[in-house]
Amino acid sequence: MADVPSDAPQHCPGTESTDAGKASACAGCPNQTICASGITKQPDPGISLVKEKLSTVRNKLLVLSGKGGVGKSTITSLISRSLALSNPNTNVGVLDIDICGPSQPRILNAIGEQVHQSGSGWSPVYVDDNLSLMSIGFLLASPSDAVIWRGPKKNGMIRQFLSEVDWGTLDYLILDTPPGTSDEHLSAISYLKDAGITGAIIVTTPQQVALLDVRKEIDFCRKVSLPILGVIENMSVFVCPKCKNSAEIFPALTGGARAMAKEFDIELLGSLPLDPLLTKCCDEGKNILTEMPESPTVLLVLEFTESLPYPDTKFGNLNEFAFSVFNT
Ligand code: ADP
Repeated sequence: MADVPSDAPQHCPGTESTDAGKASACAGCPNQTICASGITKQPDPGISLVKEKLSTVRNKLLVLSGKGGVGKSTITSLISRSLALSNPNTNVGVLDIDICGPSQPRILNAIGEQVHQSGSGWSPVYVDDNLSLMSIGFLLASPSDAVIWRGPKKNGMIRQFLSEVDWGTLDYLILDTPPGTSDEHLSAISYLKDAGITGAIIVTTPQQVALLDVRKEIDFCRKVSLPILGVIENMSVFVCPKCKNSAEIFPALTGGARAMAKEFDIELLGSLPLDPLLTKCCDEGKNILTEMPESPTVLLVLEFTESLPYPDTKFGNLNEFAFSVFNT
């Protein structure tokens, strides 16, 4: 084997690096020729396609969670339904990029719907006159089908979702993302780079294991310069529907989301109780906001949706970190 100079990179220098295809670490890599050609240093054309397609979408919000099962999809649906209900002229779209567990078709009562292709792209499914949905769930043969995709294929699907869905004019496009910080997040954030993202809403539950993962989520947002609109604490207390006593199922031993929000100087947008009627509505695809308008859960949802800041601003360029991860 040839001697490697001591200052040569030991790992892939990254497809955008000036050393791409030329470093000693590139020897033998199947992508060496393509990297050396310089093609990989050019901006991904998908970024401008997404910018053009989403030029009629005013606010793009990402809903994130550190863990699965904390209620991210539920909160996405509640915010979307609440915004759509607040004004018939407010147009809302939900893009479900939780590729491994697309729940929005069930929660928004659109199971079995088909997406249609037209000259101007894929038509989303209309859940209401002013609420539309696009989900990977619509492209699976059955709701129990598993999606087993590697990074590049996921990336391609997210690019298609962002650049080929014909949303029309939207006031809000709300992205339901997978838990954690994965390929899907980096793809979505990178493709939305020029279209602009209004910000992220982070969902957590109050107990320590969930909060630990939220810290990583906050760190991720800061590393990729994604503004955080605030945190929502879900399942904060359980109020027994019979005796009305409340119990902390997930005790906030370290002060819950409130203490964490204070520590990181981000806003606590609100807290939602663990409400069995909400679980039931989600399972049955019913809209709790119209089914039980007097419920304390609904009043809290309306309150935090109203208090959401929508700065309607684009965030700055993604920093090197995001691109280096995205391109490896
Ligand atoms: P995630 O998207 O974080 O994986 P989901 O939104 O799918 O989580 O929620 C997981 C389960 O918890 C679902 O069955 C949902 O109906 C239920 N759920 C979420 N939030 C609440 C809540 N506040 N009260 C009762 N059930 C909830």
